[in-house]
Amino acid sequence: MATAGKVIKCRAAVAWEPNAPLMMEEIEVAPPQEGEIRIKVVATGVCHTDLYHLFEGKDKRGFPTVLGHEGAGVVESVGPGVTDFKPGDKVIPLFLSQCGECKFCKCPKTNLCDCSWSSKYYDIMSDPTTRFTCHGRPILQFMGTSTFSEYTVINQIAVAKIHDDAPLDRVCLLGCGISTGYGAAVNTAGVTPGSVCAVFGLGAVGLAAVMGCKNAGASRIFAVDINEQKFEKAKVFGATDFLNPKAYNKPISEVLAELTNGGVDFSLECVGNTEVSRAALESCIKGWGVSVLVGYTDVDFSARPIQLISGKTWKGTLLGGFKIKDSLPKLVNDYMTGKIMLDEFITHKMDLEQINDAVNLMKTGQCIRCILNISK
Ligand code: NAD
Ligand code: ZN
Repeated sequence: MATAGKVIKCRAAVAWEPNAPLMMEEIEVAPPQEGEIRIKVVATGVCHTDLYHLFEGKDKRGFPTVLGHEGAGVVESVGPGVTDFKPGDKVIPLFLSQCGECKFCKCPKTNLCDCSWSSKYYDIMSDPTTRFTCHGRPILQFMGTSTFSEYTVINQIAVAKIHDDAPLDRVCLLGCGISTGYGAAVNTAGVTPGSVCAVFGLGAVGLAAVMGCKNAGASRIFAVDINEQKFEKAKVFGATDFLNPKAYNKPISEVLAELTNGGVDFSLECVGNTEVSRAALESCIKGWGVSVLVGYTDVDFSARPIQLISGKTWKGTLLGGFKIKDSLPKLVNDYMTGKIMLDEFITHKMDLEQINDAVNLMKTGQCIRCILNISK
């Protein structure tokens, strides 16, 4: 590779400050250091978490940054000490790692590797050890990944090698939203055959949760959203019942309790709103109901203790509980063999230059997933 060992100048969408449009810039991407991989990003999705950092987060550090954490690409070069990857490999960079050595990696109960950037910097949502500069300033790597750039550098522990024939413009979605929602249902909630489920929020994450409930054998899946345009898509992924909380003059938990004789077995919050989290918990049946927090927000939440005293479980998930190196290649294969859907999530395709249009589509609820073409 002619570029190996050299600084690469390339295009990237830089978020210079919160609440402002992203700017297309030429950035410099340093060569990978010990244990790192430089990746030519081919395609990326836009996830609500990118918008969250740009518009909603309370912590305004973490700028300037290159957003994007749902990408797929090809290895351009590897740093010293990297043995499991070579130039040309197809890969998915991830916001979580799997070092394989820490006590969390060694425990089958969790995917929260202790070596992830997020175990230290989750409040600024970026890894400060960046390989990017622009106009002489360091630019942070949002969630350690920064896929709104033609090239990115990431530690090998946070990269999954995938099938040589995987279509990168679709499997990129497994880098965050789809794995998260799907795993929230099949891993974290542990949805059981014949159970009754409710999914709150029908963006890509919620729709993937619906798909997980369906694949796990749920008999009834309530799809809950204030935007009724999402119901048609939810049906495609297996939802059986559709509820708009705004259409009722009583809490949605009461509506669900009446429709299910006491509440649902599993509920999944895929919005990132503490009122909805509470409603999702209250919608579960006493004795054994399980509610999973998937949507992200950095404000406090509350509930009455009786909700848990009555035997419900409230839990959360990051990336659907999937250990990245073990699971991402399998999920890619599951897509390639038809076990999980990905194409159905894609409503728009654009070039990186149109990033602000993609952000607006997402913000106004007009798209499920927009795939950005990063390099031709
Ligand atoms: P999205 O914006 O596409 O979807 C959110 C959906 O929620 C929309 O359909 C919207 O209409 C609906 N909604 C809004 N308010 C609602 C309400 N009061 N009741 C019911 N529905 C409501 O977002 P997305 O990309 O699908 O992401 C969803 C959430 O998941 C975000 O908070 C994101 O940050 C989070 N997330 C978490 C993880 C994780 O690992 N835990 C990973 C990815 C994304
Ligand atoms: Zn680890």
